[in-house]
Amino acid sequence: MESKPDLSQRDGHDLVLALDFGGTKLAAAVVDLSAEEIVGAIIKKTTPVAEGAKGTLAAMIDCGQQALAECGFATEVQAVGVSFGGPVSTDRRQVLRSNHVADWDGIPLADEIKGAFGLPAAMDNDGNAAALGEWWFGGHRQFDNLIYVQTSTGAGGGFIFGRKLYRGSGLAGEFGHYIVDVNGPQCSCGRRGCLESVCSGWAIARDGRRALAEDSASCPALAQLSGNNPAAVNAAAVFEACRKGDPACQTIVRSALNALAMLVVNLITLNDPQVVVMGGGLTRSWDMFERFFLPVVQEQMHPFFRGRCQVSHSVLNGKELLLGAALLTQEK
Ligand SMILES: [Zn+2]
Repeated sequence: MESKPDLSQRDGHDLVLALDFGGTKLAAAVVDLSAEEIVGAIIKKTTPVAEGAKGTLAAMIDCGQQALAECGFATEVQAVGVSFGGPVSTDRRQVLRSNHVADWDGIPLADEIKGAFGLPAAMDNDGNAAALGEWWFGGHRQFDNLIYVQTSTGAGGGFIFGRKLYRGSGLAGEFGHYIVDVNGPQCSCGRRGCLESVCSGWAIARDGRRALAEDSASCPALAQLSGNNPAAVNAAAVFEACRKGDPACQTIVRSALNALAMLVVNLITLNDPQVVVMGGGLTRSWDMFERFFLPVVQEQMHPFFRGRCQVSHSVLNGKELLLGAALLTQEK
């Protein structure tokens, strides 16, 4: 973004189709950038992981067509914005990789979408799209510098510096692979101890499964919530068991959110943002963040930054991805 999205010079509708390619779900909606709202329904589908990139693309095109049909203004839609759950090329036309769905490497997704809908298409990874959406639509546009940190199935985020996305040479903001413990667990990237291997939906679920399998007496609430079945354990169940007082689950959650707090403290020290916004599925258990994350951030934050940088959480309930994808079409 050169300065900020120019939303003042438009009258009537300013409609963009937004597509969100997630590792577990696909979503499409038409966004009215002037009215600052989603028009019509958000169309969602489970990502058809077994069908690879080709099947996923076809399913998403179908979602997009449905969203257009249901918005009532399909002929007025001017562009398509795409959020992709994985790294994209520096020119943001090709996918580099998906860790969840096979065969995405090198797919020219922006041009595929442009061809499918007959409209110009802009694309970026989900961390950058969400950072943009959060900054503009999440009540933070008065700030010039924002960092968005997302923890959901995986972990990631993005930087808004000087009122625009900062991408480095294309891959800036890959917070999920910031190493928090060199001797830590195996990460999906092949290394050890990345944030994502310690604090993400899959990492917390893994630790919960292990606790249940190795010592179910240390996690009676988790045993009850999962029917004593390690395969049924997910991060939400570990959080709930933590609330109910399971010692093993409290250790897991404390350790995961402590690592996330260290990342955030270091990001603040390195970048001096005005606000850090925490988003993604794990933050829906914000009570856990208030207990195990915010106190560590405040305790560990360098004194220079205390009271200078806010740490808050997203209020967009997952819509930051679609809203941010729509804003990608407005970048100059
Ligand atoms: Zn990694």
